[in-house]
Formats: sequence, structure tokens, C-alpha cells
Amino acid sequence: MYIIIIFLLSLVFFFNILMSSFSNNQFYIFSGLSILPLILSVYFTKKIFSYIVLVLSIASAVVIFLLGAESYLALFLGLSFVASFIISNENKKRFIKSKINFNNEIKKEKESINHCKEDNRKSKEHISEVSQQSQEIENLYEITKRMSAYLVFEDIFRILCSELKNTFEFDDCRLIHINRIKGEMRLEEVYDIPIESRIKDAKSYDSKIIEIIDEKRLHLSLPQAQKSAKEYELILPLKIESLLAIPIYIDERIRSVVIVENMNPESFEKFSIVIGQFGLEMRKVRLYELVEKLAITDGLTGLLLRRHFLMSFEKELERLLVNKVELSVLMLDIDHFKKFNDRFGHLVGDGVLVKISDIIRNNTREIDLICRYGGEEFCLVLPETSKEGATAVGERIRKQIERENFMAEGEFTRASISIGVAASPDDSTEMLDLIDKADQALYKAKESGRNNTCVFGE
Ligand code: GH3
Ligand code: MG
Ligand code: MG
Repeated sequence: MYIIIIFLLSLVFFFNILMSSFSNNQFYIFSGLSILPLILSVYFTKKIFSYIVLVLSIASAVVIFLLGAESYLALFLGLSFVASFIISNENKKRFIKSKINFNNEIKKEKESINHCKEDNRKSKEHISEVSQQSQEIENLYEITKRMSAYLVFEDIFRILCSELKNTFEFDDCRLIHINRIKGEMRLEEVYDIPIESRIKDAKSYDSKIIEIIDEKRLHLSLPQAQKSAKEYELILPLKIESLLAIPIYIDERIRSVVIVENMNPESFEKFSIVIGQFGLEMRKVRLYELVEKLAITDGLTGLLLRRHFLMSFEKELERLLVNKVELSVLMLDIDHFKKFNDRFGHLVGDGVLVKISDIIRNNTREIDLICRYGGEEFCLVLPETSKEGATAVGERIRKQIERENFMAEGEFTRASISIGVAASPDDSTEMLDLIDKADQALYKAKESGRNNTCVFGE
């Protein structure tokens, strides 16, 4: 439409210019010139420019009129400015309409961009949440994997400590081992987490916490510790805002409890999973220790079996020889035990063996090796002990057995032992030779009347 108008107006313009050049009539020039802005206004369709066009057209018409223009020209100009007004007005309306449409479009675009941004933000949040969860699962899997590689409590506890230290924030965390003596629970050892090697005192309220857990047989989870403590009649120091206590069961009984103070309650669940895993590992360690103990100890007396004893003895002897430190060997044999068995029966004899084993155990140190060497023969290795020291230990054992009342067929009876002592490096530096020399001394003790101690070489 505009193109046609522009085309027609351009024709009129060129016609007027052409006519003015032939007739030398200035009216044509004016009328031609008055059309020019009209063309431009239609072409540009700008608001301000349309008003300028209007003013120029009116001005041209007035000038033509004043100069005595012919009536058709005046009419033509009048029509042309009316046309220009209508066109510019139309353009203005269209412009406003398209502007409104454009603004609406922009608004919609902005809205959809905002939606996109929101969606993007949500998916980013979701992605980070999912990756955080997967990281946590991976971490838990790692802890499990690392712990399961070990069979000793100290090792799995070390891993637990480093894991808790790296993953959680808390004010205090402790692992308490519990022992049940005649049905009464005692706090055995309190390990400070994450300082794995430190053993500290239990807190005044730990016994009460363990009592509650034992009763409930569940975790004690107090995200708002002060508020919930009253419910359990538990008195906690005011500085404790949150508390979580998790029991570890072994053989259906509480073996340990992990207590953590002032940790963010949001971490309670994850913490419980880690401790749950640690509990499983503790059960595994316990089982392993049991199997190992069964494999190396005698079922009746609980003392070392010969094979394991000899291996440990060999290692200990090597170590002490390098450091030029003494080691003593004692051979013990129950006197006339055959007669004892014949008189009271093997069951009573077994009871005597158990009791004598306990006496030996109670009179020796943790580092000493005690072996049930044969039927009623025992072999003791006392590292870092001289012959004199070993003789004193032997005598202490012998005298206690001599004094002991053994129950047989409803009456008390007595038993005695004979002891032979040899020592490294004085008597020998070879393990089997040392045992043999201790045995020779024992033989001498038997020979010299029994119920006494003989030292090899004396
Ligand atoms: P002595 O050593 O004083 O020379 O006399 P003894 O009668 O003790 O002699 P010996 O050391 O040779 O005796 C071994 C006896 O120990 C034989 C057996 O009746 C008894 N014995 C060995 N092992 C066991 C056991 O596991 N239970 C019981 N009840 N008796 C055992
Ligand atoms: Mg004997
Ligand atoms: Mg014997």
C-alpha cells in the first residue's frame, strides 16, 4: 500500500518538476516541492517527521494560495496534506500497536528466560545434591573397604578416627568399652576420638547414657539435648546442645558405645551409618580373635599350644639375643598326677589342671609365654628375666600350689609341682637346647624328692 502511494506521489512530484521546467511556472515548483516531504514522511513513517510534513504541506498550500494558485492545485495540496495526516496517523497507530506487541513479546521472552533461569538453577541444585549424595555413598563405601582390610581392633579404630575427624565437626567424641561383671555394667576403657591413642576418663553422665541405651536398646538421639534430657532424667552440662549415643552390640550385648557431643543434628544419620559399619567390623575382629585364640590355645586351660608357643619363643629369643638381654625357661610338671587321676578320676584331674593353670597365669606377666607343653607339663618363657628372677617366680607358683585346696569327691586334697629352670644366654642360646636343659633340671627336681625347684647347672 505504502509503496503504491509513494509511487503515485513520486509521479506527481516529477510531473510538477517537469511542468515547471516547460512552462516556467513557479506554482508547479512549489506544488512539486510540497509533495517531496510527503513522500519522505510516508517512507519513514516516523511520528515527529509526520508532523513536520503536515506543517510543511500546510505552509506550501498557504504560499500557493497567497501567490494566487489555481484552485485545482490548492485542492490537490489540501488533499495531499489530509492524506499525509491520515497516513501518518495510521502509521502512528500501527507503530504504537507494534510497539505494544513488541513490548509484550519482550515481556514474554523475559518471563520465559526467567523460567529457564529458575529451571537451570533448580537442576543445578539437584545435580549438586545428587553428586553430594553419591560422594557420601562413595565415602561410606571407602570407609567400609578400608576398615574391612584389617582384622585388628587398633587398625579399624585408627581408620574410624581419621574418618570421623575428616567428615564431621563436633566438640567431643568418645568410644567407651563396656564390661559386664555379674550382670553389672562397668565402663572399661574410654578412647578419645579422634586422638585414637588417648585413653581418658568417662564423663559423669556417661553411665546414665549407657543405662538408657541398654534399656531402650536403641540409639540415644538428642538433637536438642537440654530439652530432651529431662525426659530421660539425664543431667547434662549446659554447654551440650546436641548429643548422639550409638551402641555397638556383640553377642546380643552392648560391647561399646560411641558418644558425640555438639555435632550438627543433620549429620546424625550419616554418623550412625559410619558407626554401624564400625560395629560390624568390631564383630568381625572379635570373631577373628576368637578363631585365632581357639587355633593357638588349649581348650581346657586356655594356655598356648606347643606349636604357637615355640614360634613365639623363637622370635622372642632372637630379639633378646640381638639386644643381649636374658631370658629364662621354666618346665613345670605335676607330681604323681597319675596317682591323682587313678584315685579321683580324670574329671577331677582336669579341674586341678585348670586351677594350676590359673595360678601360673596369675603369677606371670602379660609378656610371659605360658604353654601347656604336654599332658600335665607346662613350659614358661620369661623374657628379660634372669635365672634368679625366674627361680623366684617358680617358687612363688610352687608354694601357692602347695597351699591350694583342691576339691575332690567332696573333700579337699593337695597337689604339688616340680620345676626346672634354665636361662639364655648362660645355659644355651638355642631354643630346643634351652627347653631340654630346663627339662633336665626338672628331672633333677623330681629325683631330689619332688615339690621343689632346680636350676640347671647348680
Ligand atoms: P611324676 O611326674 O611326679 O613323675 O609322676 P606322674 O604320675 O605325674 O607322671 P607323668 O608326669 O608321667 O604323668 C602323666 C599323667 O598325667 C598321665 C595322665 O594320667 C595325666 N594326664 C596327662 N594329661 C592329662 C589330662 O589332660 N587330664 C588329666 N586328668 N590327666 C592327664
Ligand atoms: Mg607328672
Ligand atoms: Mg609329666
